[in-house]
Amino acid sequence: MNDFLERLVAAVPTVTTDPDAMEAYRRDQCLLAEAGRPLAVVKAAGVDDVVAVVNLCREYAVPLVTRGTGTGLAGAANALDGCVVLVVGGMDRILEIDEVARIARVEPGVINADLDRAAAEHGLWYVPDPGSRAICSIGGNIATNAGGMCCAKYGVTRDHVLALTAVLGTGEVVRTGTTTRKNVAGLDLTHLLIGSEGTLGVVVEATVRLRPRPQGLATVAATFPTVQAAVDMVLELGKELDAAATELMDRTTVKAVNALTRMGLDEEAGAVLLAQFDGADAARQAARCAEIAEAKGAEAFATDDPDEGSALMEARRAALPALERMGATLLDDVCVGTHQLPELIDAIEAIAAEHGVTIGTFGHAADGNLHPTVVFDPADDGQRDAAGRAFDAILTAALAMGGTVTGEHGVGSLKAPYVERQVGDVASSLMHRVKAVFDPAGILNPGRGY
Ligand SMILES: Cc1cc2nc3c(=O)[nH]c(=O)nc-3n(C[C@H](O)[C@H](O)[C@H](O)COP(=O)(O)OP(=O)(O)OC[C@H]3O[C@@H](n4cnc5c(N)ncnc54)[C@H](O)[C@@H]3O)c2cc1C
Repeated sequence: MNDFLERLVAAVPTVTTDPDAMEAYRRDQCLLAEAGRPLAVVKAAGVDDVVAVVNLCREYAVPLVTRGTGTGLAGAANALDGCVVLVVGGMDRILEIDEVARIARVEPGVINADLDRAAAEHGLWYVPDPGSRAICSIGGNIATNAGGMCCAKYGVTRDHVLALTAVLGTGEVVRTGTTTRKNVAGLDLTHLLIGSEGTLGVVVEATVRLRPRPQGLATVAATFPTVQAAVDMVLELGKELDAAATELMDRTTVKAVNALTRMGLDEEAGAVLLAQFDGADAARQAARCAEIAEAKGAEAFATDDPDEGSALMEARRAALPALERMGATLLDDVCVGTHQLPELIDAIEAIAAEHGVTIGTFGHAADGNLHPTVVFDPADDGQRDAAGRAFDAILTAALAMGGTVTGEHGVGSLKAPYVERQVGDVASSLMHRVKAVFDPAGILNPGRGY
């Protein structure tokens, strides 16, 4: 290994092997997923660095974990014992914004919100909006196929990526996709790389779609007596209106958000629903949404003041940090058909009662994507075990409904054992065979994703 490290240091300028300095690169935000001890942390400055590191890791059979900004929630960027952590967050240049083609070409370390801000200077919009958009990287978003609040209307990251440049596990540089609006030439390697969690290649450049910024924004905040009533409203809403975001928070989450933000949301309500509408028709849609909510027994408030609307949505963005202040958290990311949300809510409540744990549930209701979050005291072994059992029971319940164990956060190491249960042995085997083509030495984030 000394030989490996010597060659690594000679090949790339920023290599760290100091255990204290490497500590900051061992984990993502999923604190309970296992994290190993890396051999080295390398900060890539460009494609040549990435190619050099991949080639050395391949030659010496050293596992390589690519890291964006480490905001992942599934342990996908956690170090493996004896690995190289390849940090690409420093490759953060916006290379081009083309107003006419409505595309941006970026390096992988560009922060999501920075890209959107740069697009806004041209009257354009980078749509995918994970709650972490101020801190997560476009490369990480692509590798996890990140979602966010406006997926029901605008889709997930996959729907906004046109072309990629990636370094494969062979050390080859591949360019996939085109910048054209249409392209059906050959197999769709772009979409195969998206969501592959650093297991097929290291994304070093992306060309993404931009949209015109919508004019008009209106927001509705509605408080319901029960979570079921709020979910019922979401189903009703979908028949008539096209909300850009439909975000749900149960009472546990609302209390936690109030404690963190002092926003004064109604803690007596069973659930708070925040719905946002954009475009020229936004105010009318919001008013109609409030009417539907009130007919369902809610107290509803609508505003077409964009600042007031953004402030309300901040409450939802604070949900996870707020619950994290109550204890350690195990965050689920299950997704079912929207018509199955009532069944999922019932299952979550039954699981909380059966295992004697606190679960705060929030999420993207119009996508059927909820984040039931088990909150517990990590120092209490009994609570820790119960939290693990409840986490597992929620995944099992979603699978029983034909849903998925992850709607947007990815599989990482946390949910890898569940993938075969979801997709079956043939699809699982195919995934491993595809990996072997992209990464014959099996060095890229082994054991993660599937
Ligand atoms: C408060 C909070 C709110 C969040 N809200 C959302 C949300 O609404 N929706 C959502 O989807 N997620 C959300 N997340 C999760 C997280 O922000 C996303 O998964 C994000 O896409 C991760 O980006 P990252 O740069 O931090 O990636 P990392 O955590 O560094 O890495 C994630 C995965 O991507 C791989 N990777 C990173 N960069 C590259 C690259 N260039 N090439 C190949 N592989 C790469 C890593 O190996 C790893 O497998 C939230 C997280 C937090 C902390």
